[in-house]
Amino acid sequence: MNKEEGARPKFYADAMLGKLARWLRTLGYDAAYSRRISDRELVEEAVRQGRVILTRDTLLVKRRAAVGRSFFVESGDINEQLRQVDKRFELDASRALTRCLRCNTVLRKIERDLIRGGVPAYVYETQKEFSKCPSCGRIYWAGTHREGMIKTLSDIFSGRGGGMDKAAAGYVMVFVTTANAQDAERIGEKAVTERLAACCNIVPIMKSIYVWKGKLCKEPECLCIFKTRRSHFERLKKRIKELHGYEVPEVIAVPIEAGLEEYLEWIDESLAGR
Ligand SMILES: [Zn+2]
Repeated sequence: MNKEEGARPKFYADAMLGKLARWLRTLGYDAAYSRRISDRELVEEAVRQGRVILTRDTLLVKRRAAVGRSFFVESGDINEQLRQVDKRFELDASRALTRCLRCNTVLRKIERDLIRGGVPAYVYETQKEFSKCPSCGRIYWAGTHREGMIKTLSDIFSGRGGGMDKAAAGYVMVFVTTANAQDAERIGEKAVTERLAACCNIVPIMKSIYVWKGKLCKEPECLCIFKTRRSHFERLKKRIKELHGYEVPEVIAVPIEAGLEEYLEWIDESLAGR
């Protein structure tokens, strides 16, 4: 994505993505959002205004006018959402805190004298710079809430730019043991074809020692090792529970700390079915 002046993407977030719209505004991106707009109106507005539609709605992305100008947000988790949007649009924070979080309008600097009485006295006394939203009138200053925002943003974006180790943060390995190779293959195949995991390695035989209902067991078992995105784990876990023959199957996820960038990208592509 070209980051030249004027080439920054503009967004229209659907009704489920209010928090994401707010964080994009925090970064200074033009991010429209309305809870009261219909899908059809949202798409029309986005087309008219040249906005990328951000949506979690699988029906909305299929609307004809939305094809090619919408971006499907996979996760319900705000940090994961921001990482996903960042990965696609290479967000930058060069204009952070220049836009009204409430109404998306670009803020204007305002003389300190003009806001006396408009903010709490201690804020007026301790802050030097203020800006005001010309549309809704809300006043902003570099106070603690802004520092909180910057901290949150830097936590989110620390997943980027620091080399591939941090880029791996969104991925997990999932270990699942099964009674036999057939079960392992059946579960592995389902998980991969249903795009819940990019791949499944099967360790065909190992010995597991455990106590089950008061009895020491030493059983041959198989091990499945899945590679997937953290955002897919809940669905994968649920599916494994359905497919697995055990009353309490082992399903545990461990974070991937580092990885070859191309391999991590391949995980994404596989999950997206490309
Ligand atoms: Zn405003």
